[in-house]
Amino acid sequence: MSANDNELLHTVKFFGIISTTINTIIRSMNDNQLLRYSRQIMLPQCDIEGQQKLLLAKALIVGAGGLGSPAAMYLAAAGIGHITIYDNDVVELSNLQRQIAHNTPDIGLDKVISTQQTLKNLNPDIEVIAIKQRLTGKTLESEVLAADIVLDCSDNFATRFAINQACVKHQTPLVSGAAIRFEGQVSVFTPGTHNSPCYNCLYSSDGEELQNCSTNGVIAAITGIIGCIQALEAIKLIISAGEPLIGKLLLLDGLTMEWRTMTLKKNATCPTCGGL
Ligand SMILES: [Zn+2]
Repeated sequence: MSANDNELLHTVKFFGIISTTINTIIRSMNDNQLLRYSRQIMLPQCDIEGQQKLLLAKALIVGAGGLGSPAAMYLAAAGIGHITIYDNDVVELSNLQRQIAHNTPDIGLDKVISTQQTLKNLNPDIEVIAIKQRLTGKTLESEVLAADIVLDCSDNFATRFAINQACVKHQTPLVSGAAIRFEGQVSVFTPGTHNSPCYNCLYSSDGEELQNCSTNGVIAAITGIIGCIQALEAIKLIISAGEPLIGKLLLLDGLTMEWRTMTLKKNATCPTCGGL
């Protein structure tokens, strides 16, 4: 441990000794954890208590592609203690331009295994459960029920509506992201609270099939930006910091770098959440 690290550790511990409660929490984190997360613990919005919440949190990530890669990596780096990731694909050469959890030697490997290795290298402290399968039906229900938060990093409408339906049913917060060409969008849904709309209030399930990256193209960094915002919104929700994008749709035009925020209203006749 360097002299700087030692000094930092003392500072983090000093601030942590302010209250008995925090002192109890500090004893459950070892010195390495206090150092690893020191830049977050320094933030009053996070503090040791928030870091403890992150370490205890269970995040479900659906998709280990362009959005799932950066989202999973930042959640792992931030110390989300339990990450479960689902994806059915294997790593292909054409993925590497944007799906940054995977490296060239991973071509041919299951994306969830490649992601799991990346996350464990980044942070061996956390539990990463990798499951190679399309998340549907009863498994989807039980995973959403078990999760504190769900990140939809998928690329098709059927999965998005199914995830939304399960999140509404079990009142699990959902961070939804999408990226295509030079464009991206993010929204947060907290079913059952804040009069939150759901994904189905925003998009009708009988609408057009979602455009995807394989047919439309996508520029590398846009998936990184959107995936990172999803990770940040998830962290904010877990530690109750700031104002998450509940009831809002954040839109980015990467070509002009213009951001817009649209207000979303709960649809009283929404087939998924209307009666709830
Ligand atoms: Zn709805």
